[in-house]
Amino acid sequence: MPELPEVETVRRGLAPVLEGARIESARLNRPDLRFPFPERFAERLAGATIGPLGRRAKYLLLPLDTGETLIIHLGMSGRVLVEQSGPRTLVGEFHHSTGRLEAHDHVVITLGGGARVIYNDVRRFGFMRLSPSDAIEADPFIAELGPEPLGNLFDAESLAASLKGRNTPLKSALLDQKTVAGLGNIYVCEALHRAHLSPWRPAKDLKPDEAQRLVSEIHLVLEEAIEAGGSSLRDFRHEDGSLGYFQHAFRVYDRAGEVCPTPECGGTIERKVQSGRSTFFCGRCQA
Ligand SMILES: [Zn+2]
Repeated sequence: MPELPEVETVRRGLAPVLEGARIESARLNRPDLRFPFPERFAERLAGATIGPLGRRAKYLLLPLDTGETLIIHLGMSGRVLVEQSGPRTLVGEFHHSTGRLEAHDHVVITLGGGARVIYNDVRRFGFMRLSPSDAIEADPFIAELGPEPLGNLFDAESLAASLKGRNTPLKSALLDQKTVAGLGNIYVCEALHRAHLSPWRPAKDLKPDEAQRLVSEIHLVLEEAIEAGGSSLRDFRHEDGSLGYFQHAFRVYDRAGEVCPTPECGGTIERKVQSGRSTFFCGRCQA
């Protein structure tokens, strides 16, 4: 499932294709994804010129010169493909697809000049919305988000203030998009391990120095992932499904049974289900 770094990688991959481009036409191959498409969706897109691509948490923001912004959420398996001349170019791949890709091409946007941008989503948990650009922060999906983890409003003090009085486990608090926006299961597991904090600690018990450590590790893990995604963009013509993922660099995620990578720890990475999701951690250095 794409988290903030993967969405940022898609944004960077799409920017050179989309920014300044005019949408010639849009074709919808079904009436909905997770939600129905906006009313007269194709008509509202056609003829619009796309401005600088933005991102808020896991949402891609495509401002249009019509005054509306196209908001795209990739859900669990959303991918964006670009066809220029020649074969398809993959801009985002976050799952191992089965079957023919074309069966899951739900939205096809044709740009002036003939390039096509295709939204493909096997599981259809993604969605698209149009919202007034001058009130994007009031969009119901954006308005409920907490601070951007790499933004100026997220620091040890603001995190501590947000966790104050909360009995919920630290991991659950970090997955709550109101605490910090854009983190999912993978990067929360990674950040907690790097900060040597137990995922089960009551959120309210986090001490100031631990909050500082956690914020630093969240910054680092996201920055490294974005960098890894950026380097994968340079050869994103490979349809091997690896683009934007940081998989090879995960320290604990999906590594149950392996030796803990913390120097001199000697523990073993474990997997336990927590609130219905897999938590990967080391019981020794995250005690
Ligand atoms: Zn360890």
